[in-house]
Amino acid sequence: MPETHDVVIIGSGPAGLTAAIYTARAALSPLVLEGEPSSTSDQPGGQLMLTTEVENFPGFPEGVMGPALMSDFRTQAVRFGARLETVKASRVDLSERPFRVWVGDPEAAEPTYLAQSLIVATGAKALMLDLPNEQRLIGHGVSTCATCDGFFFREQDIAVVGGGDSALEEANFLTRFARSVTIIHRRDELRASKIMQDRAFANPKINFLWNSQVLDIVGDEKVEKVVVLNTKTDEKSEIALSGVFVAIGHRPNTDLFEGQLDMKDNGYLVTQAPSSRTSVEGVFACGDVQDDVYRQAITSAGSGCTAALDAERWLEAQGGH
Ligand code: NAP
Repeated sequence: MPETHDVVIIGSGPAGLTAAIYTARAALSPLVLEGEPSSTSDQPGGQLMLTTEVENFPGFPEGVMGPALMSDFRTQAVRFGARLETVKASRVDLSERPFRVWVGDPEAAEPTYLAQSLIVATGAKALMLDLPNEQRLIGHGVSTCATCDGFFFREQDIAVVGGGDSALEEANFLTRFARSVTIIHRRDELRASKIMQDRAFANPKINFLWNSQVLDIVGDEKVEKVVVLNTKTDEKSEIALSGVFVAIGHRPNTDLFEGQLDMKDNGYLVTQAPSSRTSVEGVFACGDVQDDVYRQAITSAGSGCTAALDAERWLEAQGGH
């Protein structure tokens, strides 16, 4: 027989674990399916597990390492009675309540868990270039977040890869710190909006490398240079720099909910702001899986709190508590 829980939380980044802390303190004994450490990018704990120093999370005047911060989130959730399982949800059925959640074989007749309410905190992934050294150098010069890491590149020469609004916004922001920012784009035309383009073209610290594909990011301990191919001339060149910001888009982790929860065109879950309610009553979403704008650990944690309070009140209204 599947176990029944008042609250099942899928995901264990700042959103999922904040929801766990709040629902645990409300005596709802949440079950957190925290994911599996199957590869570096899929470690439980979300995107902060891939960062080094976090300096903008309030309460840590000296900064904190991303994995250490997530370990503290986890300890705090467990202290109040959250149960964390290091597994991935393989299938959910939200067509009736209690909701059905599978772990392991998605074809199994019986679900693994039944959930009176569900909090979706499955996050998003920054798209990467899939280069040999890229993962290894994350946090050592390779970054996917200018807001988080720009500060570390004062007076340095760095690059941003991509040609969309994110790339240009990051590049503009990074010129506050860096000596120069080279935007490396694979075509000779930007995808970004006109206003962002105008701003970037007018910024004397920004220069462009067109028709250019990054073949490798080189460095032992930290980024030292990139190898770039000019796709028009087939010429390879090396550029010395200390930082590479990859800004080629994000993908929300919403495959599980395809056809079951309303999503925007870009795949992010729709929530009924200012609440965390999704299109299915009793299912709440928080963190990056429903946020294609702010994407910060602190906004994610804040929305995890919102989802916990929404779930708690909703369960109470159902007469469960
Ligand atoms: P995006 O619009 O999808 O742009 C991604 C960029 O990365 C494109 O220029 C693309 O090149 C390039 N790219 C994709 N895969 C690549 C690869 N493997 N190697 C090299 N380059 C690659 O993504 P985004 O910039 O993150 O923006 C997402 C959405 O958020 C957009 O709707 C955007 O308007 C919005 N946004 C708005 C603002 C703002 O208004 N301030 C800020 C950020 C984001 P191609 O152009 O050749 O395809």
